[in-house]
Amino acid sequence: MSLTLYNTLSRRKETFQPIDPARVRMYVCGPTVYDYAHIGNARPVIVFDLLFRLLRHVYGADHVTYARNITDVDDKINARAAQDFPKLPLNEAIRRVTSATEQQFHDDIAALGVLPPSVEPRATEHIEEMKQLCDALVARGHAYVAEGHVLFDVSSMADYGKLSNRSLEEMEAGARVEVAPYKKGQMDFVLWKPSKAGEPAWPSPSGIDIPGRPGWHIECSAMSEKHLGPVFDIHGGGIDLVFPHHENEIAQSRCAHGTPVMANLWMHNGFLMVEGEKMSKSLGNFITINELLETKKFGASPWHGRVIRLAMLGTHYRQPIDWTADRLLQARATLLDFADLVSGVEPAAAPNADVIAALSDDLNTPSALSIIHGLAKSARRNADTAAELSATLAFMGLYGGETRDELNVGVEAVAVDAAKVDALVAARLAARRSKDFKESDRLRDELAAMGVALKDAKDPTTGEIVTTWEIAR
Ligand code: AMP
Ligand code: ZN
Repeated sequence: MSLTLYNTLSRRKETFQPIDPARVRMYVCGPTVYDYAHIGNARPVIVFDLLFRLLRHVYGADHVTYARNITDVDDKINARAAQDFPKLPLNEAIRRVTSATEQQFHDDIAALGVLPPSVEPRATEHIEEMKQLCDALVARGHAYVAEGHVLFDVSSMADYGKLSNRSLEEMEAGARVEVAPYKKGQMDFVLWKPSKAGEPAWPSPSGIDIPGRPGWHIECSAMSEKHLGPVFDIHGGGIDLVFPHHENEIAQSRCAHGTPVMANLWMHNGFLMVEGEKMSKSLGNFITINELLETKKFGASPWHGRVIRLAMLGTHYRQPIDWTADRLLQARATLLDFADLVSGVEPAAAPNADVIAALSDDLNTPSALSIIHGLAKSARRNADTAAELSATLAFMGLYGGETRDELNVGVEAVAVDAAKVDALVAARLAARRSKDFKESDRLRDELAAMGVALKDAKDPTTGEIVTTWEIAR
């Protein structure tokens, strides 16, 4: 069976053909470790974990290498370290911030059913490789040294801008940033820069006698080359990374090695919004994975990691996703159903073939999940289907033997007063009709905290919205 994936580079779906089927190689840009990962960061982690699982299924677990890096050199890290540990030497403060954040990231995503990647390189452990790349780029005439910096000369690359589909002229016209005096060209970007006093610093590449540190883009070029080679199969990340990060990774890697591509296939997940708005600290809708797992901040109850994963996979990875409490409620009700059907069932040897086929069509998770719903229906009557459902859910990372109580984390075991629920449901509908969405959301959250899941549907004859409810517990 063939695997088809959308390639940002060619802007179409392509049949995936690995360079070496015995060693399929994928690189995904990982987190910059200075703060809790937010729910938007969870999207690429979950999406590419699913792809990793699919590749292992198709090519064999021993034939896939997945590298997801840790960015532990960055201005944001320095700032956070100075703020959190003002009395410590900066390097010690940075070490504390990055190691605690990395541990937190691992704990949070493990709860989401994410497998560890094959390798997880850290930027600080690849400084030598980054310097070698700088030297190679200067030697080949693609970079220059100026005032303690190494800069990439974008005019030296004929097809710079191919991934983001923009010409150099367009980019220059659109750029409003003030151009640093040491840059030859407006779009030239930093490969290496001098460190300020007290900041992390390493001996610089050739021709620079003051210590410095790498730019962000060069980190991924160096780490991917070290672990996957100069040309590999798949490179992934969120859509916001296409420009400038991935464009610049491509420029560096291709020009340093004289290769026509860095990776054959470039994949990007769409953005996550929260309740219809861009997630931001100032809007007050910024939500971390950890807050979802452990607090009542979103939707009035904590959510089990598998519920979060299912809610994420309900939308195709290339579409934008709107993160809502309703989405989580529906996912929880669904998983509780599934858990009932597969608990104590010995899983079949392999996941369902139609689900694999759906995922093999550019990771079509909505289609895969609708097939799974069909399996669940017949699993009620058929033990073989129940065994297949169990294997399929485990394959997708959606079930790991959790009990109902575990999936219902934080939902209070109160006996629900049906008359009270009816009254709250009616009040929410009234609030919605009068467009008081704040109040209707508040009532929905209050119901969620009672373990009540709502379903809105249009009455086909009157066109009015009718709400039904069920106990998610
Ligand atoms: P960062 O730490 O900002 O470099 O982000 C780490 C990963 O999360 C990158 O692949 C980003 O593209 C991705 N990402 C960040 N914010 C969002 C969002 N709101 N929705 C989807 N992906 C995101
Ligand atoms: Zn990267």
